[in-house]
Amino acid sequence: MYFVANWKMYGNLSSLNTLDKVIRFSKSKEIKGGRLIYCPPNTLISSFAKKFNNCQIGIGGQNCHESKDYGAHTGHVNSRMLKNIGAHFVIIGHSENRKQGESDKLINLKIKSALEAKLKVIFCIGETLSEKRKKKTRSILSKQIKIGLKNIKNKSNIFIAYEPVWAIGSGIIPKSYDLFKTIEFIKSKFRDKLPKVLYGGSVNPENITNLKKINNIDGFLIGGASQSAKKFIDIVKKTY
Ligand code: 13P
Repeated sequence: MYFVANWKMYGNLSSLNTLDKVIRFSKSKEIKGGRLIYCPPNTLISSFAKKFNNCQIGIGGQNCHESKDYGAHTGHVNSRMLKNIGAHFVIIGHSENRKQGESDKLINLKIKSALEAKLKVIFCIGETLSEKRKKKTRSILSKQIKIGLKNIKNKSNIFIAYEPVWAIGSGIIPKSYDLFKTIEFIKSKFRDKLPKVLYGGSVNPENITNLKKINNIDGFLIGGASQSAKKFIDIVKKTY
């Protein structure tokens, strides 16, 4: 099982102290084979990489520019730069960036450049509340997958993160059966090798006991709760 912490635009150098607990946990038997991955803001990736030097915790960025080349793109960072400072993963297509105008086509370019830089990609997909109400969930997910992964033959380094937009930061999670069926639907889109599919949206130490029962989920992408070492560890412990 994968547990990905998406810190979004939170955290500073003093947050590093909170990681000691998680590092100890990651070296203990209690981790039970769970894989931890932290995606802090870019400003902290390098420090996290140093801190995690002697443990198995992965590090990722939260987005990247689509160009693999260096260039005049003020304020941006590309996948090579992330790789260079110690990242192994990158989240691409998060709904918070889609909302800012990131299209499926642009996401496709970003994924390609990240794979070229030898990063593993956590590719986010998910429907909005209004799309859900109009019963468009499956067609939206199909479109996001089709365009987002267009012309990408080797998908072995791609994780899918299903994050219904209405579940993010709302405290609401999908009904278990609906979530099971949606994950099954997502997996059915892949013919040869099934991707790992993570669920994200309001995951916390309370609702994890229900979420863990959904047996086709391969892990969780955790926002708010991941900023507390205690809650993050609790989520992992309660999953097993
Ligand atoms: P929350 O866990 O805060 O709902 O955020 C989910 C998310 O967006 C992770 O990428």
